Amino acid sequence: MHLEKVDTVGVVGAGTMGNGIAQVAATAGYNVVMRDMTDELVAAGFEEIQSSFETLVARDTVTEQEAEAATARITGTTEMDDLADADLVVEAVTEDMDIKQSVFEDLDAVCGPDTVLASNTSTLSITTIASVTERPEQVLGLHFMNPVPVMKGVELVVGEKTSDETVTLGREFAHDIGKETWEADDKPGFVVNRVLMPWINEGVRAYDEGVADKADIDRGLTLGTNVPMGPLELADHIGLDVVLDASETLYEELGDRYKPAYLLKRKVAAGDLGKKSGQGFYDYD
Ligand code: NAD
Repeated sequence: MHLEKVDTVGVVGAGTMGNGIAQVAATAGYNVVMRDMTDELVAAGFEEIQSSFETLVARDTVTEQEAEAATARITGTTEMDDLADADLVVEAVTEDMDIKQSVFEDLDAVCGPDTVLASNTSTLSITTIASVTERPEQVLGLHFMNPVPVMKGVELVVGEKTSDETVTLGREFAHDIGKETWEADDKPGFVVNRVLMPWINEGVRAYDEGVADKADIDRGLTLGTNVPMGPLELADHIGLDVVLDASETLYEELGDRYKPAYLLKRKVAAGDLGKKSGQGFYDYD
């Protein structure tokens, strides 16, 4: 069963995120058209999907039959025109505004008037991406996490012109493919990368400045704060280029984010120290 309004999902970009998005959409029963620039890149996307399914089958997360049926629902292409029948398109190309805008211009020309266009951008403005289309109200951010088949979260990014209907469709689609969502306004880095990128960069600086060796920085953060991965290991996992692109956008848009936040100072002055005082950002009473 899938959403009534969505039969075919287009995915632009068959890299780390695009092939994962294609895989989870196909697993949930959607027909998927996955587009990249060359046959080799499309084939590499299929190889990643196959290898991910092998792991999931070995873990009994999906059966071999389900993996085969899902793979058969994915069509690879190098032609933008093959996305014409998609009801929802998720763009997952390189984190570069010019490239993303050119993809959205093409999608706007090729897709039917009802098609909803989503970007998987980590940090770029959904409003600016949408501005090159004639349908900015049908454009939103669907920010999947890496690796897509494993990570539960999808950030819904609401652009200046994004309609409620579009947000609802994005949310329902994400839930339908087994994800959980939260909403973020179209501000640099949204929720996750706005908080995550300074954390990763500080881990990188701590390593560069010799605070500890890299394994101990990661051990310190995993054992000390109960996250599954430390900043250096996570940066490797995300892709250092992706981290750099995201960090540069945030730096350009937000400047020096390392001063203690005003709200933090105010809450400490008020005695709201967190769990130990019963009140921090959350209420523990
Ligand atoms: P990637 O480099 O692995 O893949 C990008 C793919 O897009 C490449 O295969 C490239 O050939 C293709 N591409 C470029 N221009 C294209 C075009 N015009 N048409 C079709 N394909 C095109 O990058 P990625 O890690 O998958 O990141 C993709 C997007 O997802 C970026 O916006 C990134 O910020 C975002 N993102 C990445 C992660 C992560 O952990 N890697 C997590 C969340 C979001």
